[in-house]
Amino acid sequence: MKIIENILGGFIDLLFPPRRVCPLCGKSQEEKKICDSCLNMLRGFREEQVCYKCGRFFHVPEEGPAGVGQEAAYCRDCIGGGRSFFMARAAGPYSGDLKRAVRRFKYSGRRDLAGDLSGIMFDRITANRHYNRVDVIAAVPLSPGRLRQRGYNQAELLAYGLSDRMKVPVLPLLKKTRETAPQTSLGRPGRGENLLGAFALTGAGAFTGKTILLVDDVITTAATLNIVSETLVRGGAGQVLGIAAAAGRTAAARGKGGI
Ligand SMILES: [Zn+2]
Ligand SMILES: [Zn+2]
Repeated sequence: MKIIENILGGFIDLLFPPRRVCPLCGKSQEEKKICDSCLNMLRGFREEQVCYKCGRFFHVPEEGPAGVGQEAAYCRDCIGGGRSFFMARAAGPYSGDLKRAVRRFKYSGRRDLAGDLSGIMFDRITANRHYNRVDVIAAVPLSPGRLRQRGYNQAELLAYGLSDRMKVPVLPLLKKTRETAPQTSLGRPGRGENLLGAFALTGAGAFTGKTILLVDDVITTAATLNIVSETLVRGGAGQVLGIAAAAGRTAAARGKGGI
């Protein structure tokens, strides 16, 4: 009977192949991989100009992305300095299908999306010479309460996905010592204060002078990245580079910025 079942099962699979969908847009296709139109979209994001420092995308004016911020290398928030990380990048802006995929990954238990999301993060940085000298990967930590509630740290899953591709180890360098209000619920001035003292080193592993890749799911204002990176730099890190699946859009600095 088992054999008949298997044969029947095979026929059914042939007639009705298991549903395979693009992990970003959800379009049905033959294989479970990112579809061609999403790959095109991601290529387009890589060609958009971003803030050299925080990697956030510039606002797109009505006439489209051509010429956006051509002369502005830094965003309004980075032009004055005060960033503890060397640079950060994200696979795309936090909107549309990418935003929906990140939200499913983070809030709907879809930890299986870590592979595809870390893949597009890797594609974003693999040709960038600064990211080729990473020694250690660390994830932005969750508070113990949030970790219990969610069951996983989404940034850590992305860090392990990147580790597989980059052949660089993930080390548990950081912990979040208390819960903080969601950054999006606060006005700009309150965001730095909200995070102050919320992150600490775990004392795991020596990283003095090392280049650390700090992984998060989304760069909203880069305030979290900044404070966590500051913790690492104070602890002796040589340099911190940031990477996220998605980043917000921001205003370019006025006039010729920085570089
Ligand atoms: Zn797609
Ligand atoms: Zn910036």
